[in-house]
Amino acid sequence: MALFTIQVEEKAKLTQVTLSGVVDETADFAPLAELTGAVEIHCGDVRRLNSMGVRLWSDAMRALTQHADVAFVACSRAVVHQISMIGGFLGKGRVASFHAPMRCEVCDYEADHFIDADAYVASGRMPPLACPNGHGPMVLDEIEDIYLQFLST
Ligand SMILES: [Zn+2]
Repeated sequence: MALFTIQVEEKAKLTQVTLSGVVDETADFAPLAELTGAVEIHCGDVRRLNSMGVRLWSDAMRALTQHADVAFVACSRAVVHQISMIGGFLGKGRVASFHAPMRCEVCDYEADHFIDADAYVASGRMPPLACPNGHGPMVLDEIEDIYLQFLST
């Protein structure tokens, strides 16, 4: 059981929120309700969302981004999928960075690649990641246009 947890930490100039686990009908987003100012939501450890979880998440983010300036950091593959599929999944928030699942076409080695959204948009391509077994650059284990669609909207 990977329970959903929310950690809220007040830093000097921003509030840092860390979400992790599985987002389902039991997910309680109440800790986000009163946040204002700059908010960074780290969601690299969000592993899975079911349909009720997606609804609770979307409602919470829509409400939060009415009164806070929200950046989503290190979005996991599960989160990126929802951003692409569900309009308004992040409310008015923006993606600062995300994970890209990479795979070597020769040996099937898999790795998680951390991508800065602004850098990707500026360069128009993913920074290369070499297979540690010496097979050259790995490829995105997703359809790039679909996986990264949220960056072009
Ligand atoms: Zn390889």
